[in-house]
Amino acid sequence: MEKLVSLCKRRGFIFQSSEIYGGTGSVWDYGPLGVELKKNLKDRWWNAMVRARDDIEGLDAAILMHPRVWEASGHVSGFVDPLVECSNCRKRFRADDAKIKGTPGTPDVQCPACGMKGTLGAPRLFNLMFKTFMGPVEDTASVVYLRPETAQGIYVNFLNVQQSTRQKIPFGIAQIGKAFRNEITPGNFIFRTREFEQMEMQFFVEPGSDMEWFEFWKGQRLEWHKSLGLDHARLKYHQHTTEELAHYARAAFDIQFDFGGTLGFQEIEGVHNRGDFDLTQHQQFSGKKLEYFDQPNNRRYTPYVVETSVGADRTTLAVLVNAYHEETVEGEDEGRTVLKLQPSLAPVKAGIFPLVKKDGMPEMAHRIAEDLRPLYPVFYDESGAIGRRYRRQDEIGTPFGITVDGESMAEGTVTIRDRDTLQQDRVAADQLRAVLAERLAR
Ligand code: ATP
Repeated sequence: MEKLVSLCKRRGFIFQSSEIYGGTGSVWDYGPLGVELKKNLKDRWWNAMVRARDDIEGLDAAILMHPRVWEASGHVSGFVDPLVECSNCRKRFRADDAKIKGTPGTPDVQCPACGMKGTLGAPRLFNLMFKTFMGPVEDTASVVYLRPETAQGIYVNFLNVQQSTRQKIPFGIAQIGKAFRNEITPGNFIFRTREFEQMEMQFFVEPGSDMEWFEFWKGQRLEWHKSLGLDHARLKYHQHTTEELAHYARAAFDIQFDFGGTLGFQEIEGVHNRGDFDLTQHQQFSGKKLEYFDQPNNRRYTPYVVETSVGADRTTLAVLVNAYHEETVEGEDEGRTVLKLQPSLAPVKAGIFPLVKKDGMPEMAHRIAEDLRPLYPVFYDESGAIGRRYRRQDEIGTPFGITVDGESMAEGTVTIRDRDTLQQDRVAADQLRAVLAERLAR
């Protein structure tokens, strides 16, 4: 993980937020390459969930919502973690932190940070929602929350979307957006942060068909993670036990990825059968009906919801961890670091290199770069030995290297180097668009 964090910073994938001020706790900024990678990942999700299906509609709801939303959802009373604080060093921990040996609040228990005994207070409940004020007067009447999940924006728009699109049940609503949680123990880079992005889909179904749809989505979502190139052996389901299951949930499975190191297998996505809990709560709190009218059967009912909820940042981390390789190269002393990203996810699709900075090679390489740039991100690089230039692209996961050499000038051909196999072959320069299109789709 340390090596990955350093690569991400050095190459412009991910920076610590407000770094010049010493950083903000567990908030991260995506740099030029990171923003492309995460965007490619979000596009993959949006295409699979919204564009490729006629039974899911897209939505982009606001981050700030009516405060009653969070009373109805249970977040005001229930979105809490037990927190303990050390009266000596002021460090805070989750009460269930594995580093705390014994019961916090009792004399012999040692603070895991400063080592003092008896200084850890008894657990207090701590709400994870960020609060802010709407309007100019900072009184409690104007308190609003930064949403801790995107799902509620979907529930409150259920009828707006259903009626405006004339969708019939079963159908879903999907959205990608920021969520905020004042996590007590964030960490592990972008794994658990205080500001993150979720990709959530709520599928509204007829009560009784919910378990069937739950099984369907559980299967679909695992396949999607596999389709990103995540190693199949690093993916598994985790079924929520009775203790883990929320009181309203009828069934819940996490999809876990093996991040290796101290993290091991961890949740990247949750698939939940939420019954009619959410719509019923919003009907009670808003006083507005959120029912579906089934015309063929002349019946009104509150639909059940099957939810799929995946973290865009956490999945980006899974993709990066999965792609990171250090390799020795045959016939070379120096090894290489390579991100074996799927071409569709890679931030740069091709590096374009003149072998030397003379004899018309830079001009021809520039022409190729300009020809390809409208199609996808390419990177022109003429500085340093060609081997070094290849390595720099390997490190950021660029699938192809196109080199203009002496033969190119005479024959109108270039070489294409494959990042993973290191094979090079020669193709006609005027065929590059077609050749790359075919290879990028592999
Ligand atoms: P965890 O227990 O790991 O914090 P959770 O069970 O609270 O996660 P959900 O509420 O089910 O998570 O959120 C759905 C998804 O959103 C998670 O699978 C994860 O990918 C992502 N997610 C949740 N909290 C965070 C966070 N603090 N930072 C980054 N991603 C998060």
